[in-house]
Amino acid sequence: MRIYLKEGREKKIKHFYPWVFRDEIKKKEGTGIIAELYDSEGNFLALGTYSPKSRIAFRVLSYEKEEINENFFKRRIEEALSLRRGIDSDAFRVAFSESDLLSGLIIDKYSKGVVIQVRSYPMESLKEKVLNAILEVIKPTFVYERSDFKGREEEGLRPFKGLLYGELENPIEIREGEFRFLVDVVKGLKTGFYLDQRENRRYIQSIVKEGMKVLDLFCYTGGFSLYAGSKGAEVLGVDLNEDALELARENARINGVSAEFLKYNAFNFIEETKEVYDLIIADPPAIAKTKKEKESVKWAVWKLAYHSFRKLKRYGRLFICTCTYQMSVEEMVRQLRLASTDVGRRIFIKSVNLQPLDHPYLPTFPESLYLKCIDAIVLN
Ligand code: SAH
Repeated sequence: MRIYLKEGREKKIKHFYPWVFRDEIKKKEGTGIIAELYDSEGNFLALGTYSPKSRIAFRVLSYEKEEINENFFKRRIEEALSLRRGIDSDAFRVAFSESDLLSGLIIDKYSKGVVIQVRSYPMESLKEKVLNAILEVIKPTFVYERSDFKGREEEGLRPFKGLLYGELENPIEIREGEFRFLVDVVKGLKTGFYLDQRENRRYIQSIVKEGMKVLDLFCYTGGFSLYAGSKGAEVLGVDLNEDALELARENARINGVSAEFLKYNAFNFIEETKEVYDLIIADPPAIAKTKKEKESVKWAVWKLAYHSFRKLKRYGRLFICTCTYQMSVEEMVRQLRLASTDVGRRIFIKSVNLQPLDHPYLPTFPESLYLKCIDAIVLN
């Protein structure tokens, strides 16, 4: 099919923004899920998918006229893999939707297995081609789908999860640097593991020294805890998810790292604890998917920072993350500033860390930046 944009709306597409909203379309010709996009004067702009129900009507897949077939997906996956060469892990995100010109599709590799997530109606219709391409290029032992998230409804799709190919190994053991982790790809959060924190786990390992007291709030399956524990720190991980804590303990055991894990509400723990720490890591869940919920993330950052700043030693550090586009770095810094002045302790911002290589942040697509972590050091 062909889609013609309203006058003036072509500019953002020429500047590599990958989405067209429904109210930007002047007219449509034909039907289908693959569409050629034109400006109001009939000049070709891009090739992509058309979603009949979603607010995001068109998503760019290519800037050339080409066939969207198995070969197209094979080429895209190969390109994505070559960008990721050199990642010191057998688990990483092979394709991150728009960031890899595969809008609506996420492909994660966990050792010899693959987990995918399908986020758009047209990508759902293209799933067989995607699956065949994955089998040919990656040659996994299994492909599992984790499309069990609510956002699919806007696309007219139901949440779904299930095995698409091969024999499932669950939990699956992955290797990341010197560590091994057990990943539950069926019941775990996201597709099972926080692949996007890989570089930050390394960062934490680089700042931890023997004997430090480290608190890992929202520890999930122990990612940060293990990296800190490996340096000889005394580590406590706190989370509410019993299954995750069980895996965290198992992960500590198989790596020969000592760390304690506690089932407790992290917001209450940081408020109630009588201990003081050298490092507090706080990686709360994405509580804001929409603009309206933005206030609750601001509040969470302020509250975690406020109580952390009261429980840190001099020169102690707070490493705090948010994982939603709704929260900007500037807004996080503002909340840290407010919390520090409320507590009466001066801080300095040592580092702002964003997403790793396998979750590319495109400046032409601001929505692709969701993960921000700030390392703040208490000065007095
Ligand atoms: N830092 C982790 C990922 C954290 S994801 C990693 O790198 O692997 C967020 C975690 O917060 C989830 O494990 C979830 O179970 C937990 N969680 C959500 N609300 C919580 C609360 N109020 N108290 C403690 N944990 C909570």
